[in-house]
Amino acid sequence: MTSEVVRRELVAALGEAAVMTAPGLALDDLHDESLHRHAVEPLAVVRPSSTAEVASVARIAARHGVALVPRGSGTGLSGAAEPVPGGIVVCFDAMKRILRLDPADQVAVVQPGLTLRELGDALAGTGLRYPVYPGEMSGSIGGNVNTNAGGMRAVRHGVTRHHVLGLELVLADATVLRCGGAVMKSSSGYDVTQLVIGSEGTLALVTEVTLKLAPVLTSCATMLVPFENLASVCQVVPRLIATGLSPSITEYVDAPTLRALAAASSLELGVAPQVAERAAAYLIVLLETRTDGQMDADLASASALLEEAGALDVYVLGEHAASQLIEARERLFWVSRDEGVRDIIDVVVPRSAVPSLLDASREISRRYGTRIGGCGHVGDGNVHLSVFVDDDERRQSIVRELLRLGLAVGGQISGEHGIGRDKQDYYLEMTDPALLTLQGRLKDAFDPEGRMNPFRRFTPRGGDA
Ligand SMILES: Cc1cc2nc3c(=O)[nH]c(=O)nc-3n(C[C@H](O)[C@H](O)[C@H](O)COP(=O)(O)OP(=O)(O)OC[C@H]3O[C@@H](n4cnc5c(N)ncnc54)[C@H](O)[C@@H]3O)c2cc1C
Repeated sequence: MTSEVVRRELVAALGEAAVMTAPGLALDDLHDESLHRHAVEPLAVVRPSSTAEVASVARIAARHGVALVPRGSGTGLSGAAEPVPGGIVVCFDAMKRILRLDPADQVAVVQPGLTLRELGDALAGTGLRYPVYPGEMSGSIGGNVNTNAGGMRAVRHGVTRHHVLGLELVLADATVLRCGGAVMKSSSGYDVTQLVIGSEGTLALVTEVTLKLAPVLTSCATMLVPFENLASVCQVVPRLIATGLSPSITEYVDAPTLRALAAASSLELGVAPQVAERAAAYLIVLLETRTDGQMDADLASASALLEEAGALDVYVLGEHAASQLIEARERLFWVSRDEGVRDIIDVVVPRSAVPSLLDASREISRRYGTRIGGCGHVGDGNVHLSVFVDDDERRQSIVRELLRLGLAVGGQISGEHGIGRDKQDYYLEMTDPALLTLQGRLKDAFDPEGRMNPFRRFTPRGGDA
């Protein structure tokens, strides 16, 4: 009966077309791209079209003690947008307007359902861009904010939190508030904007985002650089960054992964067969600057350094091959999924610790007799390791070992995909209980009834933090 009352109230607030109830909900609204999906049917999926409507949904949920699960485009990789039984999924894809675009202040104020692609299209020709590039262009700004999405250009441009100046929020009790704003700095009390960024929909519903934009750099060059071993790739990147050339992308891809990518995307990269035979790993470098003259000088410096560091060759790709390669790299998730990947770890470690992490992952791979491979944002120390093991227990032991190794060298469990449902148990096992307790108190302050995306727990597990 309660569910019928909730449905009627939601329809009265949003209109019939914006409210879907079980049974018969669209499957696409009920999962993200986690490799560990659970079939869960919520009470309803709603599509509000304004902040006022979001607040109405929150009010109805509060009145009936119902959980709220925000959802952007569902491209998240950690199960953080999965519904909960009896809950309401709040989809933001009907809220995608650009509310303000200001070239002088270099800001865009947008609704959370706007996708990265739509923002990019709207900025074309303005001389400005949103420089964060978390690859999957159908991801929404609200989702990016709530996962603190990173991606390939973080090495130069930072991650989502470095480009969000302010937010409008709807809390679980339907309070609407604003934090931050279109200002370049602020020392005005606790920074709630930054607290909500990366909170995976567990603190508030984000209904508006003020983004910091950056000027477009028109002169670009992409290098593909084969090396005989992965260690050389990892060692050269800190040196490249230390030159001050500010590469916008420094990605490593191991040779089997690049071969899989080239085959899946029909890439023509022009790597000589005798070089490809010797190459164990590739570095992809994107340089961006203002003028072609400066680019020639930067390319010469970078090439000299890479060759001196043992590169088998340095290929400067043509525009078409370069964009194909970057797009293919972004599709790697789908290629790995088709190949049967069961887990993708996105542990982040200090840049200098990447070689020891990769050595250790090779040792684990030998010990378990399985393939652990992949790619990563090597300049950020953010390694994406793909684990191809069907047996759940063995897979979890491998993941646990890899995460512990990352933490042991000063890293964090997730660099950009978030904890979500998938990594919750590892997070509880491996996080300082005092930090968990503080996070639990923060959660209580925002959401005392624990109804906002209630997957997140704060009780330590395993006792070996
Ligand atoms: C092929 C592929 C490549 C990818 N590459 C990268 C990459 O390079 N770097 C990277 O960081 N990520 C990457 N991702 C992951 C994904 O694109 C990001 O996590 C993205 O930020 C998710 O956005 P979304 O709109 O799909 O969010 P969703 O998956 O819908 O939701 C993500 C989280 O945000 C919350 N949320 C969404 N909207 C709101 C809102 N308005 N208010 C409050 N909470 C909200 C959800 O509850 C959930 O916790 C990739 C994914 C794919 C499929």
